[in-house]
Amino acid sequence: MSLTAYKKKRDFKQTAEPKGEVKKKEKTLIFVVQRHKASRLHYDFRLEMQGVLKSWAVPKGPSLNPQDKRLAMMVEDHPYSYKDFEGVIPEGNYGAGIVEVWDSGTVTDLDQSDIKIAEKNLLNGLKAGNLKFTLKGKKLKGEFALVKFKNAENNAWLLIKHRDKYAVDEDYNSEKHTPKNSPINKALASAKKKSK
Ligand code: MN
Repeated sequence: MSLTAYKKKRDFKQTAEPKGEVKKKEKTLIFVVQRHKASRLHYDFRLEMQGVLKSWAVPKGPSLNPQDKRLAMMVEDHPYSYKDFEGVIPEGNYGAGIVEVWDSGTVTDLDQSDIKIAEKNLLNGLKAGNLKFTLKGKKLKGEFALVKFKNAENNAWLLIKHRDKYAVDEDYNSEKHTPKNSPINKALASAKKKSK
């Protein structure tokens, strides 16, 4: 999998985002959800496969309620090292704004297989447009699916929580699961003050 699109969009003399030449060797695959205040606030949902992070922009953020089907627009692969990226992307650059890690942990297939089998199953799901996986994060836990819209020309998928012991029935708003003093929330609060 290639990072050409990722690199093309960015000027690494200007942004502190990783160039992504490094790749680790761990016994688990990772996931990360980054909250990103760009022109619009959204969440970037990333799953490790074949040394890169397959990525979706989720406008409303993930949900633990199985009744929610959250739109997830597939975007360019990001480098593995992006999992730790937090900070400011300067004005005038692609995705200018602030990035903070909202949740992170490991991802496997539904059987929670060893890394090689899990990765194969994830890749097959990705290709089929029906990707099922298990997350072990701090906020996101249990089984989820990413399902691609049929006959869609664009990259629209839906992110859905499976019904399991981690699922909830009440409304789930990822914003409410974000610390009030997070870097983005602090920046939003001070911008609000200034505009008064
Ligand atoms: Mn983003």
